Order: sequence, then C-alpha cells, then structure tokens
Amino acid sequence: MAESKKKIILTGDRPTGKLHVGHYVGSLRQRVELQESGKFDEIYIMIADAQALTDNADNPEKVRQNIIEVALDYLSCGLDPAKSTLFIQSQVPELTEMSFYYMNLVTVSRLQRNPTVKNEIKLRNFETSIPVGFFTYPISQAADITAFKADTVPVGEDQLPMIEQTREIVRSFNNVYGDVLVEPEALIPSNEACRRLPGIDGNAKMSKSLGNCIYLSDSPEDVRKKIMSMFTDPNHIRVQDPGNVEGNPVFVYLDAFCKDEHFAKYLPEYQNLDELKAHYTRGGLGDVKVKKFLNQVMQEELEPIRARRREYEKNIPKVYRILQEGSIRAEKTAAKTLAEMKAAMKINYFDDAELIQSQAEKYGV
Ligand code: ATP
Ligand code: MG
Repeated sequence: MAESKKKIILTGDRPTGKLHVGHYVGSLRQRVELQESGKFDEIYIMIADAQALTDNADNPEKVRQNIIEVALDYLSCGLDPAKSTLFIQSQVPELTEMSFYYMNLVTVSRLQRNPTVKNEIKLRNFETSIPVGFFTYPISQAADITAFKADTVPVGEDQLPMIEQTREIVRSFNNVYGDVLVEPEALIPSNEACRRLPGIDGNAKMSKSLGNCIYLSDSPEDVRKKIMSMFTDPNHIRVQDPGNVEGNPVFVYLDAFCKDEHFAKYLPEYQNLDELKAHYTRGGLGDVKVKKFLNQVMQEELEPIRARRREYEKNIPKVYRILQEGSIRAEKTAAKTLAEMKAAMKINYFDDAELIQSQAEKYGV
C-alpha cells in the first residue's frame, strides 16, 4: 500500500507514576530528537491507561491521577502537540477491538515465552493468579502500534520482545487476510547505558514499580540527595582502593548523561569519561567526587525540563485539552485502519453491496 511508505512513530508509557530519568534516556529524549528531525510524517505518543489497568485493576485512582503527571512530563521534555499527537489509550476504543481479533493469531505458549512478561509476572508476585489482561498485554500493544501503521517504535530494551510479537502478528494477519498492516521496527538508543538504566539501588532497571527512581519532576535537592545516596561498587571502600566501573550505577548514569563539555565546565582535571573511569579503576578517586560531578551534569540536563513543567502546571485544563484533541485525532486514524482490517477479514457486511446482491441472487431475487 502506498500509505505504508509513510514514516510513522507510535510509542507510549503507562500512567503508573511520574516519568523518571530511565524513561528519559531510554525513550523520551530520542522521541523529542525524532520529532525535531522533521523525518516523520506522523508521531503518536500514547498514555497507556488501559494497559496500566491490567495490573492495577483495583487501583483506578492511581491510573487516573497519573495521566496528568505523564502528560506534564511529556510536554516538559519538549514533546510538542503541534508536531506530535498526544493521546490516551482508553479513548480510542478501536484498539480494544483490534486486540480481540489479534488474539486469534497468537498462541498461549507463545505468550508464555515472552521474557519481559515472565520477569514482570515474577516481580508482581502474581504466581498462579495472573490477570488474563496482563498476560495478553503484548497483543494489545500490537494493536496500539498497528492501528497507526507505525513503522518506528522508540523504546527501551525491555520492549524488544513486544515489538517482535507485533511483527509476528502483522505477518500472520497479512498472510491470512491480505496486506493491510505494517511491520514495525524498534528503535533503541545506540548508547548502551540508555537502553536499560539501572535503579539508584543498583537494581538492573529503574522502574516506577520498584521505587528506585530519579523522577524528571524531582526538586534539585531531591535529585542531589538521591545521587549522593546511590549504590556504587561495594568493594570500593577507601578512596585508594581500586574501583569497578562496570555495572556501577554512578558510571552507567555518567555514560548516559555526560558529554566532554561537562568535564571542561565542572571537572577540568579530566578530559573525558574514559580518563575518569581509568582513575577510578586504578584507585585514588572517591565516590563522593564522582557523585558530585554526576549531580552537576544531571542538574544541568533536568533544569530546563523542570522550568517548562512549572509553566504547564499553571494551565492544567489546557493540558487536558491537548490530550482530548489528540485522542480525537488518534481515533480517526485507528478507525480507518480498523475499517480496512474488517474489510480484509470479511466482517464488513453492510457496506458490501456485492455481498448483498450475490446473496439475493442465491435466493433467486
Ligand atoms: P512500570 O514499572 O509500571 O512498568 P516502567 O518504569 O517500566 O513502569 P513503562 O511505562 O513500562 O515504565 O515504560 C515506558 C517506556 O520507558 C518503555 O519504552 C520502556 O522501555 C522505557 N523504560 C522504562 N524504564 C526504563 C529504564 N530503566 N531504562 C531505559 N528505558 C526504560
Ligand atoms: Mg514497564
């Protein structure tokens, strides 16, 4: 289809909390760059409230309260409603309908093999009481992506199995019903540290659900306190001890945030991060000095985001209007794709004059 040549982005976040610096380096920062690149015809950014309910069914207020938090975080990072459609998943009911049809194209054992879902089930202690909705959320994610015929999905590394599942669904659908859907590609950050930023506690992933986050909206003082209390190399006890930079969150954060210019500005005795790492590895460099530097680097990046947030916080009804207008726009696109899907699936009875005519002829009318 000619239309599928368009460059289209779909991505999003669950409104289960405010967004943190893991979201920022893993996906948000890149979204804004892609938005500004001018290379994309359409950009859809979704607040995945229906998905958040799959493991928060008993806590709808949490999801409701966090819609505005995520929207404020988006806008404060530089997502621009004039260039990107910001919308709420539940306000586009076509997505639910598509998920229902995709369920026929996926097996239970295929879902059980999804490593991210497996890990999340463990983290949530669901054991044998996994909600069906949670178990099948990779299918609903396939609907979110394909409804907009997105070809590019900027996400963190944990989302790769979801994109693979989506690609399989697209192939099955197009095989069975004809070429309607577009196979998407994940776009993960080229910088390895950004693909899965660890928590301040040293846990492999900073995550809202684990409470180990530095939030984009944290005050400068909170950010400083969190950085100063960060987990580092547990064997680096005295300053003169050799230290380990591999998997050491303070250095992973520096990998994700610092540029050579930051050294000239805040730590001129080093040229770049390699020199700092070499000193730490050799011994003689204290954690406090490295953390103070990280704090300066991160405050510099976060300050403009906080300033923009304060502006949007003054006009909350406007933020809801942005989401409402975005949701209306998103629904139009999704409805168009759903109509094409239903025609391909032969469940478009009433707008098919030929069908009605041939049935009539069968009965000799
Ligand atoms: P939850 O614990 O509720 O699942 P989360 O912190 O994992 O929340 P999501 O809304 O599930 O956040 O993820 C949104 C996007 O941010 C996804 O693209 C995901 O890959 C990315 N992301 C989340 N956490 C990180 C992280 N620590 N490092 C890099 N990217 C991340
Ligand atoms: Mg998640």
